[in-house]
Amino acid sequence: MLRAAHALTGLVLLLCATGCRPHTPAVHTFSTIHMDTVVEVTLVDADRAHAQALADQVFAIFARVEAEMSRYQGSSTVSALNDHAGQAAWTPISPGLETVLRESLRIAELSGGAFDPTLAEVNRLWAFDEGGHQPDPDSLAVAVSHAGWRALQVDAGRARLDSAGCGVDLGGIAKGYAVDVGADLLVSHGVTGAIVNAGGDMRLIGHRPDGGPWRIGVQHPRDPDGLLEVLRATDCAVVSSGDYERYFIVDGVRYHHIIDPQSGFPAAGCQEVTVVAERAMTADGLATAAFVLGPAAGLDLLRRAGARDGLIVDAGGTIHRLAESAVATTTGGDGATP
Ligand code: AMP
Ligand code: MG
Repeated sequence: MLRAAHALTGLVLLLCATGCRPHTPAVHTFSTIHMDTVVEVTLVDADRAHAQALADQVFAIFARVEAEMSRYQGSSTVSALNDHAGQAAWTPISPGLETVLRESLRIAELSGGAFDPTLAEVNRLWAFDEGGHQPDPDSLAVAVSHAGWRALQVDAGRARLDSAGCGVDLGGIAKGYAVDVGADLLVSHGVTGAIVNAGGDMRLIGHRPDGGPWRIGVQHPRDPDGLLEVLRATDCAVVSSGDYERYFIVDGVRYHHIIDPQSGFPAAGCQEVTVVAERAMTADGLATAAFVLGPAAGLDLLRRAGARDGLIVDAGGTIHRLAESAVATTTGGDGATP
C-alpha cells in the first residue's frame, strides 16, 4: 500500500535542502515497497550508482525476510509452522527466523504477554490488511482462547505451535529484524552515513554528510504535519508504533491494529510509542508491547529492557518520557537548526 506524502508513519527523516553546506558528499534516497510498507534507504555516498547497488541489496533482504516470515504468503516458513499448529511435528526454521522467534518470546515474557507473536487468528478476524472490520464476537473469543505465546516452542533450527487454532504473526517485530539485517549489511560495506527506514522502523548509521547526527522528527499522532519532538541520534534504532497506521472508525470509536492479547480488542491506552534502542528488532517488539501496556507500565517495560529512550503519547494526547533518558544526543527542538 503506497502512503500519501503526508501519511503518518510516526517518524520522519529531516534532511536539509540540497547541500546543507558546500562540498558535502551527496545523500541519495531509494525506496520500494515490501511488507506492505514503504522501505527507504538513504545513503551518504559520492557515487549514486554505488549507492543504488547497496540499496538494492537491502531491498533484496526485505524480500527474503518477507517471503520467509509473512503469514500472508502460503509458501512462507511461518505459514508452514501455522499449518502444523496443534500437531506434534516440528517445522525447520532458518537461523534468522529462529532469532526473531526467540526475541519475540523474550519480549513476550518481559512484557507479561502484552507482546504476543501468536495472534495470527485474532488479527485475521480484524482484517486490518484489508481495511479492517469488527469481528464476530464468538469467533474472536475462540481465537483469543487459542492464542498464547507459551504455545510457541523454539528449538535449535526448528519450531512448533502446541495449540491448534493459533498461529504466528510477526507483524510487530519482523520489519525491525529486516531493518537490522539491511543496516548491518551497509555497515559491513563500510558505509559512514545511512538510514534504513521501513515505515517508521529505522536504523541510523553514522552521520549526515556534514558530520552532524541524524535528525528524526517524531510525528504528532493526530496531525501529519506536526512534530512532537526532534531526536538527534547516531548508530541506534528508532521505532514508532501507533494507532494511526491501520485503523477504521465506527460510531466515533477508532479500531486499530495493535491488539491487547487478553481481550482481543485494540489496546486503548496510547496513541503512539517511540523507542530508541540499539537494535531495530528489539525496539520494534518493545514499541508494540509498550503500546499495549499503556504509559506507566509501558515506560517501566522500556526501562527494564534497557531502552536508550522512549516517548509515549497516551490516549488523551499527553506525552510521557523515559525518565532516566541515557541518550545524550537525543534532544527536543523544532528541527529548524542543524
Ligand atoms: P507494530 O506496528 O510494530 O506495532 O506492529 C503491529 C502489528 O503487530 C499488527 O499489524 C499485527 O500484525 C501485530 N500485532 C498486533 N498486536 C500485537 C501484540 N499485542 N503483540 C505482537 N504483535 C501484535
Ligand atoms: Mg512493533
